[in-house]
Amino acid sequence: MKRACDTELRPSEQSIVHRYAGKTVVAIGAHPDDLEIGIGGTLAKLQKNGAHVVMCVASIPKDFDVRLAEAKRGAEILGCELKLLMDDGPKRLEDVKTCDLVGMLDGLIREYKPAAVLTHSNSDFHNDHLLIYRACVPTQRLAYFDFFSYHPTNCRPVPIDFHPNAYVDISETIDAKMHSITAHGSQFGGRGLDTEMYREHAHAMGRIIGVPYAEGMQIQRMVLA
Ligand SMILES: [Zn+2]
Repeated sequence: MKRACDTELRPSEQSIVHRYAGKTVVAIGAHPDDLEIGIGGTLAKLQKNGAHVVMCVASIPKDFDVRLAEAKRGAEILGCELKLLMDDGPKRLEDVKTCDLVGMLDGLIREYKPAAVLTHSNSDFHNDHLLIYRACVPTQRLAYFDFFSYHPTNCRPVPIDFHPNAYVDISETIDAKMHSITAHGSQFGGRGLDTEMYREHAHAMGRIIGVPYAEGMQIQRMVLA
């Protein structure tokens, strides 16, 4: 006899891939590697299933050419379009006026007309990530896109107050995610940091929804029409 807990919880018509197939999804990260770490498996899954996925990297603080090449490689592995918001050389987000940053992100929304925007969260501990999240919030006044925050991204784990309430099964794209993270060689291998914790984290998220690997997000706004 089938028990309640054996019930299929995720009928395919409810899948995120159906929600955004044929539409544009814009993912925004403060730096190269944030998107691969935070939401790379979801982006690859969406792209594979017919969404137009734009990976917007807001800034490259230093080592511009190296990190731009790594960002291009990361986006290529995930099959997504790369957009560098501040493409005229090294820039620190702290040096940009908030109103200018909001203006640039407004331009991004007007250009791509996304069905969904995925960005950092208010729970992040990196000030650049918080600046991007806070500059993304007001772009919601321009159009009715879904708005999600992905898990805080870091090179070394620290305690954070982030509680996902939406999960994406990334079992099919975990290898692409891991591959895209290692494309950022200047951030990991060169600094003696290993990337395996991102696979372990995705595995722990997967256990919450009963799949091998998952990414968790916070829903900030979702239109249930
Ligand atoms: Zn970052």
